[in-house]
Amino acid sequence: MAGFGTTIFAEMAELARRSGAINLGQGFPDTDGPNEIIEAAVDALRSGHNQYPPGDGIIELRSAIADHQAARYGMRLQPDGEVLVTTGATEAIAAALLALAGPSDEVVTFEPYYDSYAACIALGGATRRTVPLGAPDEPIDLDRVAAAITPATKVLLLNTPHNPTGKVFTVAELDGIAELCCRHDLIAVTDEVYEHLTFDGTVHVPLATRPGMAERTLTISSAGKTYSFTGWKVGWICGPAPLVSAVRTVKQFLTYVSGGPLQHAVAAALRLDDSVVDTLAASLQAKRDRLCAGLESAGFGVRRPQGTYFVTADIRPLGATDGMEFCRTLPDTAGVVAVPTQVFYDDTDAGRPFVRFAFCKRDEVIDEAVARLAGLAAGDRGTPVAEGTVSTT
Ligand code: PMP
Ligand code: GLN
Repeated sequence: MAGFGTTIFAEMAELARRSGAINLGQGFPDTDGPNEIIEAAVDALRSGHNQYPPGDGIIELRSAIADHQAARYGMRLQPDGEVLVTTGATEAIAAALLALAGPSDEVVTFEPYYDSYAACIALGGATRRTVPLGAPDEPIDLDRVAAAITPATKVLLLNTPHNPTGKVFTVAELDGIAELCCRHDLIAVTDEVYEHLTFDGTVHVPLATRPGMAERTLTISSAGKTYSFTGWKVGWICGPAPLVSAVRTVKQFLTYVSGGPLQHAVAAALRLDDSVVDTLAASLQAKRDRLCAGLESAGFGVRRPQGTYFVTADIRPLGATDGMEFCRTLPDTAGVVAVPTQVFYDDTDAGRPFVRFAFCKRDEVIDEAVARLAGLAAGDRGTPVAEGTVSTT
């Protein structure tokens, strides 16, 4: 793993902590999710659910996940054998890639890509091939996807809604990808952690629901993003029993089982009325609008996201060219932390002029960040920012 070093999230979170800057880097909400879900967690802790749960996850949660996939997407899954609870989506991604792609195998994914994809492909000794994505509303280039597939390709790894671009793949795009997966007999692994966080009526569609895909797709999600509890790390992976079984074999030796009490709380959360997640998504949409408007008025080029916690901003209109350099100095120049998008690209030149801001923050935090960033275009750099002006925790 030489070369992987410290993740950009840890580096930027540390920069925020040291400088007292507003942290719009790592994607986590600065307010907790619904209180009834917290109460369910407290109840679970007080009800003796404190020893190892079953390796697959508690049946209440596996049933709730299967019911959720059926109600939302019409997917038919058996809670026994076709659903596996994991320690966040992160473990599901790792276990799936380790199970399915080894040395001499290739994995195709889009770039920019979530950072753990490259690391987990490398852990398995496999090779990644990437296909570039543009702005959220720019259609994917299927010919480039086809060109990235070779006889060694085993897995197509898809993230929709997509971090960091905020793109939600359309049905036509998914069908094109599905056709390639079927034609080349690929297994699809889909990361859908932002499945409920879409905006302006954009509908998230799982790749597993498209023709020919149910039997060759592992679908991953997590409670962290949906309910604003990113620190809980309760995730899951669903799909055909033989594929889930392969993932389970690896999972046993990564974590053995995942933490128990919060599984009860997430089972309760999945049984809540849809309005709970719809309300969170609507609130996030308003925050997206707030930050996008602020970034535009501060002079950034804004690529408006269709979902997720994130907006990608182009720094070139501000006269800057290198996102990494921009983000390393931003705490000093503006008292704000962002993430340079180039770290999510193999083609770093393509990502160089972009930075990612998270908008899953309280309105007053977004407003303060925007006010600070507004000074950038005016050349108002280097003004020391007083620590503690706004609480960023
Ligand atoms: N995939 C994507 C695209 C993400 O943004 C994140 C961030 N949390 C994860 C996976 C990891 O999810 P979890 O915290 O549930 O492990
Ligand atoms: N998914 C979040 C993000 O993209 C958090 C990632 C992390 O901390 N590893 O910011």
